[in-house]
Amino acid sequence: MDNLLENRDILILGGGPSGLSTALHLQQLHPHLATRILILEKARYPRLKLCAGGLVADAEVILQKLGLDPSEVPHVDASAARFDFAGKGLTVKLPRRHTLRIIRRDEFDVWLAGKARERGIEIREQVTVKNVIPDPDGVTVITETGAYRAKVVVGADGSNGVTRRCVLPNAPVSTARVLEVITPVIASEQGERSNLLGNGRLRQPPGLDTPEEHGLLDQRLRNDKQAVFDFLCVSEGIAGYTWDFPTQIKGQPMRCWGIYDTNLLAGEMQRPALKQPLAREMARNGFELDGYKIKGHPIRWYDPAGPLSVPRVLLVGDAAGADPLFGEGISMALGYGKLAAREIGAAFEHGEFSFSGYRRRVRLSSLGQTLLARWVITQVVYHFHWRWFQILLWRILKPVVIAASWVLVLNWGKRLK
Ligand SMILES: Cc1cc2nc3c(=O)[nH]c(=O)nc-3n(C[C@H](O)[C@H](O)[C@H](O)COP(=O)(O)OP(=O)(O)OC[C@H]3O[C@@H](n4cnc5c(N)ncnc54)[C@H](O)[C@@H]3O)c2cc1C
Repeated sequence: MDNLLENRDILILGGGPSGLSTALHLQQLHPHLATRILILEKARYPRLKLCAGGLVADAEVILQKLGLDPSEVPHVDASAARFDFAGKGLTVKLPRRHTLRIIRRDEFDVWLAGKARERGIEIREQVTVKNVIPDPDGVTVITETGAYRAKVVVGADGSNGVTRRCVLPNAPVSTARVLEVITPVIASEQGERSNLLGNGRLRQPPGLDTPEEHGLLDQRLRNDKQAVFDFLCVSEGIAGYTWDFPTQIKGQPMRCWGIYDTNLLAGEMQRPALKQPLAREMARNGFELDGYKIKGHPIRWYDPAGPLSVPRVLLVGDAAGADPLFGEGISMALGYGKLAAREIGAAFEHGEFSFSGYRRRVRLSSLGQTLLARWVITQVVYHFHWRWFQILLWRILKPVVIAASWVLVLNWGKRLK
């Protein structure tokens, strides 16, 4: 073969959480395979990745089981998560711990890549994969600089990745649209007061002009370590939510806002633009969207009927499918890594690389169970888009929603084998 750069047993395409987790789990479960892995990453760390960086407890559990301490990464801990409809709803707090840890992905991914390297995993940066061609004896991976051969390839190249496109060109794709904006906190009394006077960048929140409402504002400022999800936009044809997370950039407190749309209502209702509901949610909190940079990126979400492998090639992370309900994908990516590592270990042990049981084993795992449960909940929560239903769900059925989240959405990381 022309310009064959290297022949490796295991090539992992993409050095985000899913690719790095696959490598770290391979190293933990099958240490003899560690030196036979090569990760190809198109960017250079620390690289920017559009993401709100919300790490649920399950992500931390998986990292801890790898012997890693995620608190080494700069973070902000949200003491509670609120699930609202138009500013009112239910609050979730986890006993004796933070509810959501918010990291920045450039910092998190460079940290995880460093841990993989410390454990003997080779990562080659600035290598862009162009094509992935499996055959009965192995896989040829074409990059901008030359070709690689491998016995096994892991497609960990995210929602826009080439691996899935190359090996499963006709598989159906379910993709969410997502916008994100970072703003300063402006949590100082003076900043907020000047906002109320109509000065500066901020706009007076509609109807917030009595002393009592100023009191409400003070309360909100004290609570700004909450992560807020608001589902008002569902009633307007956006099958998702707006979010407002506390975050930090280089140690400076900031806020991360965004809007997520699974696109589930696209066939049923006219597909509304995402910018207006995001702008309205920010305005309700006293921020003006105009003037801040809006960034967008799709999220491919999990479909229980979708394939996850072909012979010699496995998909993990967003390439396999993130959580459809919230577009949560970091914990999922880490979880897929463990399942893929088990699958690859068994394949080398038995010399059998069809990966025909991978999808079934993913589905039977605690990760697959939560993905399936979230897929079902997604169909209900977003298809039943009427205002009355959303109010019933987030404001009245609180105990039911909290119990269902506890059992079906959270706590799968501990059970992941
Ligand atoms: C706006 C937004 C907000 C989000 N917020 C959250 C959140 O708060 N919490 C959460 O859990 N999830 C969130 N997600 C989802 C989360 O970002 C993803 O699920 C997660 O990044 C998936 O990890 P991954 O490793 O599969 O893919 P990625 O993180 O996308 O990593 C893929 C890697 O592959 C590399 N790559 C891509 N193509 C190639 C190629 N051709 N050759 C070589 N390398 C390649 C990329 O450079 C990248 O490093 C959000 C997503 C978006 C878009």
